[in-house]
Amino acid sequence: MAVKPDIEIAREADKRPIQEIGATLGIPPEHLLPYGHDKAKVAQDFISGLSGRPDGKLILVTAINPTPAGEGKTTTTVGLGDGLSRIGKKAAVCIREASLGPNFGMKGGAAGGGRAQIVPMEDMNLHFTGDFHAITSAHNLLAAMIDNHIYWGNEQEIDLRRVVWRRVVDMNDRALRHTVTSLGGVANGFPRESGFDITVASEVMAILCLADDLSDLQRRLGDMIVAYRRDRSPVLARDIGADGAMTVLLKDAMQPNLVQTLEHTPAFVHGGPFANIAHGCNSVIATRTALKLSDYVVTEAGFGADLGAEKFFDIKCRKAGLHPDCVVLVATVRALKMNGGLQKDELADENVTAVTEGCANLGRHIQNLKGFGVPVVVAINHFIGDTDAEIAAVHDYVAGQGAEAYLCKHWAEGGAGIEALATRVTEIADAGMAQFAPLYADDTPLWQKIECIAERIYHAHEVTADTRVRDQLAQWEAQGYGNLPVCMAKTQYSFSTDPGLRGAPEGHVVPVREVRLSAGAGFVVAICGEIMTMPGLPRRPAAENIRLGADGEIEGLF
Ligand code: ADP
Ligand code: MG
Repeated sequence: MAVKPDIEIAREADKRPIQEIGATLGIPPEHLLPYGHDKAKVAQDFISGLSGRPDGKLILVTAINPTPAGEGKTTTTVGLGDGLSRIGKKAAVCIREASLGPNFGMKGGAAGGGRAQIVPMEDMNLHFTGDFHAITSAHNLLAAMIDNHIYWGNEQEIDLRRVVWRRVVDMNDRALRHTVTSLGGVANGFPRESGFDITVASEVMAILCLADDLSDLQRRLGDMIVAYRRDRSPVLARDIGADGAMTVLLKDAMQPNLVQTLEHTPAFVHGGPFANIAHGCNSVIATRTALKLSDYVVTEAGFGADLGAEKFFDIKCRKAGLHPDCVVLVATVRALKMNGGLQKDELADENVTAVTEGCANLGRHIQNLKGFGVPVVVAINHFIGDTDAEIAAVHDYVAGQGAEAYLCKHWAEGGAGIEALATRVTEIADAGMAQFAPLYADDTPLWQKIECIAERIYHAHEVTADTRVRDQLAQWEAQGYGNLPVCMAKTQYSFSTDPGLRGAPEGHVVPVREVRLSAGAGFVVAICGEIMTMPGLPRRPAAENIRLGADGEIEGLF
C-alpha cells in the first residue's frame, strides 16, 4: 500500500474544531484560549482547579539507540494514542513542540508521520502558538539586562570574563556560535566574547518544562546563574532584577497547547528542551493536565532509552512526583540491523542474522528499563520492507528476554494498526504492576550519581574526569546544590561515548569533560564528549525546498 507524504496526509485531515476536542476531555469552551480554529491553550485557572482529581495512567514511549534508519518514537506515541481511542479508552498524547532549526535544516518534523500525526502539522512545526518566541524573548531580555547592568556601573561586580549567560535564537546558525558583543565604541558598553545557542538549549526552556506553576517559574528563573564575581560567587538572574519581567513574557507560554491527532485524540504539545544538555521531554504542566483529564496519557522522551527514559525517570518523574505505569520500547527491524553492524545502504535485503545481532541493543534497554520498576513492552514499528523472518527473529529474541513484542502498523494504518499493543498496555497499566523508583537517591553525592548512571545504564567500566571537574562538583555540593539530579549529555547513538559503537558495548570508559550547573532548572549537566548547543545547516538545507504553492499551501515541509 502506497502512503502519501506526511504533509499531504496532514492536509487532508478532517480536523474537528478545537472546542470539540476540548469537550472530549471535559474542558468547557470558556477555558480554552483558541489560536485559530484548531489550536488552543488551556487556561491556567482551569488547570489550577484540577488538583483534587485522580490521575490517569502514564505510559512512556522510548526507543533503542537511534540510527539514521529511524525509529519513530513520536509516530508511535501518536499512533498508540489513536489505538487507545479506537478501543474505547479516554486517551491523550503529550509531546514536545518543534524547533525551527531542524525543520529548515535536515528533513524531519516533530508531529509524527504517515497516518499517525498531530495536526495542524504545518503550524506545529512552524510558529505554532508562539511559545518558543516567548522563550527566546525572555532569554534575551535577561542578556540585555546583564549588559545594561554592567554598562551602568556594574553594582553586582560581575567579572566581565565570567558572564555565562549567552543569547539564543530558534535557528540553526553556526555563524553565531562565538561572537564579540559591544563593539563600536564607548556608548556600546564593554566588548566581551559571547555567542548564541538554539532556543531549545536555553535554560529558560528547561525551566518552563519543569515548573509547577507561575510562581515556581519565577522562583526558578530567579535562581539561574548568569555570571560570576571575581571571588567566584555566582550572580543570579534575580540579582539583575530580571525574573519578574521574564515571567510576564512567559505567562501565556506556560499554558499547555491542545491540538488533535489525525483520528481526533486530544494532544498536548508543550515545551521542547534539548535531550542532551537538558532533559528532553514535554512540560510537566502538560503531562499533569493530561493525567487529570484522561484515563491514559501517552508521552515521549527524546533519543534512546539510555538518555531519554533515564532523564524522564530521574529528572522529570522524580521532581514532578509522576508514577509511570508502563513503558513502550520502540524498535524497528531496520535500526536493529544497523545495531547489528549493517550500514544504511545495506538495509534493503533480508538479513535475519543482523537483526538478531542488533537485538543485543534492544535487550540491554529492556533490562535497564525493568531496573526502574516499570513494566516494558516492545513495539516493533513496522516498515514496509520488513520481512516475516526478520519480524519473527525480534519476537523470539524479546520472548527470550522475558518480555512481549507487538507488531505495530500505525504508520501505514493509523490507530487500527496498533490496537493489540494498545489493549496490552491498558491491561498492564490497569494491573498496577509498576513499582517505579528512580535510579539513585537525592542525597547521593553528585559524582556517584554520574557513576551510577554510567555503570548501571551504560554498562561502563569506569568514569573519568580531571580534578577540575571533581572540584567543581564538590564546590557545588558545599554551596547546597548536591541534592540535584544529574543530566547526562552524551551521544545518543551508543551506550558508550563513541557514536560508532552500536549494539551493547561493555566495559568502556565514560570521560566527563565538563560539568555545568542549571540551578534554575534544577540539575547538574555532565558533558561527555562534544555537545553542540548551536547546530549548523547541512550543505543542502531543507529550506531550499520549502515554498508556498499557488493555492497558498505550504509545500516541501516533510
Ligand atoms: P523519533 O520521534 O523517534 O525521532 P519520528 O516518529 O519523528 O521519530 O519519525 C521519524 C521519521 O520516520 C518521520 O519522518 C516518520 O514519518 C518516519 N517513520 C516513522 N515510522 C515509520 C514507518 N513505520 N515507516 C516509514 N516511515 C516511518
Ligand atoms: Mg520524536
